[in-house]
Amino acid sequence: MNPSFAAIDQGTSSTRLLLASAGTAPQLSLALRNAPQHPRPGWVEQAPLELLAKVEACLQAAGRVQAIGIANQGESCLAWDARSGEPLSPVIVWQDDRTAQQLAALRAEGVQALTLERAGLPLDCYFSASKLGWLLRNDAGVARAHRAGRLRLGTTDAFFLDRLTGQFVTDASTASRTSLMNLASGAWDPTLCALFGVPMECLPAIRPTVGDFGLYRGIPVTASIVDQQAALYGHGCRAAGDAKITFGTGAFALALTGAQIPRAPTSGLLPTVAWQIGAERSYALDGGVYDAGSAVEWAGRIGLYTDLSEITAFGAAPAIARGLAFVPALSGLACPHWDRSAAALWVGMNAATTRQDLCQALLEGIALRTAQVVRVMDGHIGAAVRLRIDGGLARNPYFCQFLADATGRSVATRRFDELTALGCAALAARGVGQTLETPDDDDVASLFEPRTAPADALAWQLRFAEAVSKTMGWKRELSA
Ligand code: ADP
Repeated sequence: MNPSFAAIDQGTSSTRLLLASAGTAPQLSLALRNAPQHPRPGWVEQAPLELLAKVEACLQAAGRVQAIGIANQGESCLAWDARSGEPLSPVIVWQDDRTAQQLAALRAEGVQALTLERAGLPLDCYFSASKLGWLLRNDAGVARAHRAGRLRLGTTDAFFLDRLTGQFVTDASTASRTSLMNLASGAWDPTLCALFGVPMECLPAIRPTVGDFGLYRGIPVTASIVDQQAALYGHGCRAAGDAKITFGTGAFALALTGAQIPRAPTSGLLPTVAWQIGAERSYALDGGVYDAGSAVEWAGRIGLYTDLSEITAFGAAPAIARGLAFVPALSGLACPHWDRSAAALWVGMNAATTRQDLCQALLEGIALRTAQVVRVMDGHIGAAVRLRIDGGLARNPYFCQFLADATGRSVATRRFDELTALGCAALAARGVGQTLETPDDDDVASLFEPRTAPADALAWQLRFAEAVSKTMGWKRELSA
């Protein structure tokens, strides 16, 4: 029998297909790697047609399902031609920092109060707005298409949907990551569009997350959502205060907050749309750490380990307890610091320090950075958020145990780990009035309990915070 639902998880480092039906175990049936390009320091690009081809390869492998859902990378965006559908630019990936200086200048002018108030977001090149404006100012082909009335600008979901179903649309969760959507109205904000130089008429229509995104070869696409929000749904988070952390390329903590926009302008957490079903928008608070899996991969590339199995257990006491810390700020610091001029740092080496020690400190640094986000989230939610985690690093037992120790709470991993795709499939099922089960709180693969005395964990946090403070502003003079 054919599976009922197909979900495509078009993530930063791979494009994956999940097939699911009610009452049977979901199956990951295809995973294709995407190779990002780094044409200049700080620039991160992907080829739009290559991503599209991978999405189509997944859809073709899915066969005749009842409904399709597509999860996207969030802020990554591009320009394309309205008539031919041909890309006019590469995908500029969320990690790309080409607009950092422009945004620093806007921040100095005091403009951030405006973006925080309207979009809920700080002035950071993470979000699509400054990148879309950059394309129009710096790419002659994009400017020409605009003059000719043929320009389309949008996040990757809008490009895929335009090409796959002929609908030029995005959903409210993805639009909330652009810094062009007014969080209160759920519509593009003319003031923000003017601020970033993005012509509003070039942007896609904003739709609910579940609904009609057109037909692909006769099959309805019924859900479109940002990958992190899909993972929140996939973990079974439905009540205010429910939270998850996905440790993929970056680490992203999301806590559902309900139907009211969570206002947290001084906390460094980002209010965001979790999903919109019908007219009802649910919001979440988002706390991101740019470098998680990307830092692990970098350490491998520079030869600190050859196989991941070498960094899943360590004989020594935690590196941080021995005075060795790593701050994973390879792309700067996101929540709650928001400093693109920060750089990565190891501190505390001596002549006896080994590669193993550096790797141990690297994993701990990712966990300690995430613990900073979790602490801010606790403050906003008013309770210690429960940690349900997924993503590549959740397969590392040392990392999971250290995260439990550093945050002083239990950390649960899931038996079925493809939670972004599962959440997306469950939303696609809702789009045709069906229910696909997501895990509940007992559905746990491993539970890591904290084993460190709270006073020690606090001492680690304080030492780590000191290391973080040393990284801040490090590149400011280099980029001036
Ligand atoms: P994404 O969805 O962003 O593509 P994944 O969730 O697939 O990422 O996670 C992949 C990342 O997780 C890679 O960067 C990889 O280095 C890291 N990773 C996978 N397994 C382990 C492990 N056992 N220990 C540490 N890191 C791991």
